[in-house]
Amino acid sequence: MNKPLIFEALQEMLSVKVLTDVSMRKYTTWRIGGNADFLVFPASTDELSVLLIYLHENEIPWVVIGNGSNILVGDKGFHGVVIKMGEQFATTNWRDNQVDIDAGVLLPTLALEAAERSLSGLEFAAGIPGSMGGAVRMNAGAYGDTIGQYVTQIEVVTYTGSKQILTASDISFAYRNSSLFDVEALVSRVTLSLPRGSRDESLSKIRELLQLRSRNQPLEYPSCGSVFRNPPNDHAGRLIEMANLRGMQIGGAAVSKKHGNFIINIGGARAKDVVALIEEVQQRVYEYSGVRLETEVKMIGEFV
Ligand SMILES: Cc1cc2nc3c(=O)[nH]c(=O)nc-3n(C[C@H](O)[C@H](O)[C@H](O)COP(=O)(O)OP(=O)(O)OC[C@H]3O[C@@H](n4cnc5c(N)ncnc54)[C@H](O)[C@@H]3O)c2cc1C
Repeated sequence: MNKPLIFEALQEMLSVKVLTDVSMRKYTTWRIGGNADFLVFPASTDELSVLLIYLHENEIPWVVIGNGSNILVGDKGFHGVVIKMGEQFATTNWRDNQVDIDAGVLLPTLALEAAERSLSGLEFAAGIPGSMGGAVRMNAGAYGDTIGQYVTQIEVVTYTGSKQILTASDISFAYRNSSLFDVEALVSRVTLSLPRGSRDESLSKIRELLQLRSRNQPLEYPSCGSVFRNPPNDHAGRLIEMANLRGMQIGGAAVSKKHGNFIINIGGARAKDVVALIEEVQQRVYEYSGVRLETEVKMIGEFV
């Protein structure tokens, strides 16, 4: 890979400064990860399109991230281009009970704004520190609600640079999963349709759910939220706690004592600590209950 040449080309096509050899720690809520060769912040769908065409034609590896709240970046980093959908994609356009949301808008901001406008449904999202793009791709959800149930339309830019509109019937959502993982495209904007509700009720539900989170989740430590998917009819956290794994530690990573499905960075954790702990938890839970836990978190880059 000719890094100086790629750098020059990226600088040329993007209006926001391209970062090189940048630690991914700052860009993930786990505060873990090696360096990315390039970190870029496209500022429009046109820029995204030009960027994706260039990466495709030159066969340069790339990955997209939102707020980095459901990813583990390997200690050896990512050799290629990390596309961050962040504050350059942060517009919301409210039209009656419909809202068009750029991929970089954060769920807590959106949930509060919806409540203020007496639109209900998004209260569950107030404590999920993800971006709109990451949330639809993961079909983020909590307390029985998911983002997918409110989606009417998604604007994507395909890996070969063309803009497309997908309607709700083009996309299927499942538990922490969506067919967007099969579409070779990156999410740039999402349209939701929200039921009318009461501002005061929504705001008080948000307060209640945030209090519940701070009672049950170790929010004082860096994490990626739940590490494992819940197996059918059970909770990964319950199985981990039953196997007596709370507090288990490898290097700087530990199973939270407050919530079994959280692996927290107690200081200086490396991706290899987290991976080793994940494997140990999977093994012990399997020995204890016969259930093989699968990870919800997405692994990015090189680990060894
Ligand atoms: C304290 C805490 C609590 C959490 N609680 C919950 C919860 O209750 N429920 C829940 O579902 N999750 C929860 N999470 C996990 C996480 O916040 C969600 O999965 C969130 O939706 C991820 O969004 P993100 O922008 O951070 O995505 P990232 O972590 O940046 O990326 C996640 C995946 O989406 C892809 N992606 C990101 N942006 C785009 C885009 N624009 N287009 C296409 N693909 C994209 C990435 O490539 C990656 O595969 C929690 C996390 C933390 C740290």
